[in-house]
Amino acid sequence: MSLLDLIFPPRCGGCGAYGAPWCVACAGTLRPPSATTLAGIPLVAASRFDGPLQQAIHTYKYRPRPQLASVLAPPLGRAVVTAGLLMPALTFVPLHPRRQRERGFNQAQRLAAELASALGIPLVSGLTRVRATPAQVGLSQAERRANLAGAFRWSGPQPPGDHLGLVDDVCTTGATLTSAAEAVAEAGGSIGAFLVLAVAQTLPAVAVT
Ligand SMILES: [Zn+2]
Repeated sequence: MSLLDLIFPPRCGGCGAYGAPWCVACAGTLRPPSATTLAGIPLVAASRFDGPLQQAIHTYKYRPRPQLASVLAPPLGRAVVTAGLLMPALTFVPLHPRRQRERGFNQAQRLAAELASALGIPLVSGLTRVRATPAQVGLSQAERRANLAGAFRWSGPQPPGDHLGLVDDVCTTGATLTSAAEAVAEAGGSIGAFLVLAVAQTLPAVAVT
């Protein structure tokens, strides 16, 4: 514990308790969903999108507390190892530049950086949002898909490569992930797995057990 921690003890991003940025009790509430796929691509998540994790993701993005990435990424890393997925590199869902300026960071990029470091593989940048998309909240799956069609493009200095892991914080309907994967495919690469902290219960592809 550093001197700074004694003066400003960390609070849990899930329940607000003092002592740790992600407490043991909250860590115990994670409920990994069963293995599933989205558009034929494996989808791996640390948990369902509810309870303390939902609160912690909200705190991470909107308070914001970017440093929570270091405690949110490990459960996802364990889910990747459990799933037995091997990926040559990771990439991430981009924010529109304006939103990234407002937030000060890209939550998916920060998570992906932690995850890549833990898995010992490179993180490659290249996906960009070519147009701002209206907020997705409240839209149906079909509306989200239409909203996101052509929203992404690969503009990295090199082609994306094959079987990349694509990282985002939350998968609600899968429209963002599949649209981003299409942009990678259009650039001659492929996505080998979608990696997210949490999946919403509303995701049709996810069998809720
Ligand atoms: Zn907690």
